[in-house]
Amino acid sequence: MGKISWYHSIRWKLALSYLLVSILPVVFFFITVLNDIESYYIAERHRRLQYTAHVEAGTLTNANYFDNLTQGPLMMAMNQGISARSQAGSYRIIVFDNRFMVVHDTNMLQTRNTIIVPEVVSAITGTGSTVGINREEEVVYAASAIFNENGDRIGAVLLAESAADVFDSLNLIRYTIILYSVIAGLVVCVLVIFASQVLISPLKGILRVVSKMSDGHFTHRVKVKGQDEYSYLGRSFNQMSEKLEQAEKAREEFVSNVSHELKTPLSSIKVLSESILLEETTPIATYREFLQDINSEVDRMTVIVNDLLELVKLDRREHGLHISSVELNSLIEDILKRLSPIAEQKRIILLYEDVRQVILDADEVKLTLAISNIVENGIKYTSSGGTVKVVLDADYQNAVITIQDTGIGIPEEEQSMIFNRFYRVDKMRARGTGGTGLGLAISHTAILLHNGIIQLASVLNEGSTFTIRLPIQRGL
Ligand code: ADP
Repeated sequence: MGKISWYHSIRWKLALSYLLVSILPVVFFFITVLNDIESYYIAERHRRLQYTAHVEAGTLTNANYFDNLTQGPLMMAMNQGISARSQAGSYRIIVFDNRFMVVHDTNMLQTRNTIIVPEVVSAITGTGSTVGINREEEVVYAASAIFNENGDRIGAVLLAESAADVFDSLNLIRYTIILYSVIAGLVVCVLVIFASQVLISPLKGILRVVSKMSDGHFTHRVKVKGQDEYSYLGRSFNQMSEKLEQAEKAREEFVSNVSHELKTPLSSIKVLSESILLEETTPIATYREFLQDINSEVDRMTVIVNDLLELVKLDRREHGLHISSVELNSLIEDILKRLSPIAEQKRIILLYEDVRQVILDADEVKLTLAISNIVENGIKYTSSGGTVKVVLDADYQNAVITIQDTGIGIPEEEQSMIFNRFYRVDKMRARGTGGTGLGLAISHTAILLHNGIIQLASVLNEGSTFTIRLPIQRGL
């Protein structure tokens, strides 16, 4: 397993998400609040300037300013305007006639020029907003119409006032917020680094063990502390490791068992053939005898290899089961018919009772193998005069096959192991009966493949009963 780069690590992702979650809403909140504050102050400025514009335009209207365009009414209007404001403030006054020509400008810059100012147009036409703002120059505007005696709009006063103070204060607040956000961000970063350390370190422990295991060291375990999700993960992982270790042990044992099983007949063959080769003048009868022995050892190896191949086939699940509808009654009958000569030879009574007709979806070949191995064992491990009885029954969901013998029985402490590969209760005797120790393992695997179970009840020297349960419908 390679090293995880920092930008792929959960720690980094956690830190980033914490940062976004904690800082972004605050920044968003302050931007909204700042916009509201700005709108409020600008509106306040507009309201004040508009009021002053109205007062000054009123004064010019009353003084009939456009009749002789003298400075008197202007001075009066300015004074009125200033006194209308609760506080003093410098602003520029531009007076327009109704053709948008500047007739007076306190800054003397635009006099006699025709300028189209939207607020002035609104005031003279009597439609639209008479206040405005120029954000670049930080200036607010307000216009108000001047009337003649008949009430016609004959001009307008435009007031322009600097709003730099508003923008300066807002900028100050903005910079302060940015500064605090950066500080808060740094604090959050530090906290997140600590928090993620606490969150991630158990995971790192698990990762270390996973990487050890992927290198084939199955004995490593995760140290589990507490009751949180990590400890649950650690515990599940340890259980999985336990199973892996067992599987690995079973594999090693299996390989050593196979070698051992094949080694015995091979050594016999070697000894037998060497003794023939070493003897100068071997009588033909001895040749025959030795060759017969060699032949039976080869047969034994063939049986072992065939059983092994059978098991390998069952283990390779991808080959799957060849499912068809199987009538168990006749399937068992056929098995018993095939085995009855062996039973007769040993003078064993083979009984069959099928309580009801049972049809199930199964792989006929594998099921035949599984059942016949067990019946064969019943015959093999029962002395002459004994009985092997097979009963076929079914309940609501399962077919139930019972194979009961009056044989030698299996000691209680060995009962849990007899389904293991190459396991034999009595090694020497099993060799005499030609057993490989693989028959029950094959039956067990085949029954598991059918989602079934096999159980054993046995009393030493009294007999054994194997019970197979198979779901009638696939997938149960
Ligand atoms: P084997 O080829 O040796 O019979 P199996 O896997 O079929 O191998 O059986 C494993 C061992 O279980 C046997 O060696 C035998 O000791 C024991 N066994 C199996 N069936 C019976 C039975 N019906 N009665 C007594 N012992 C049995």
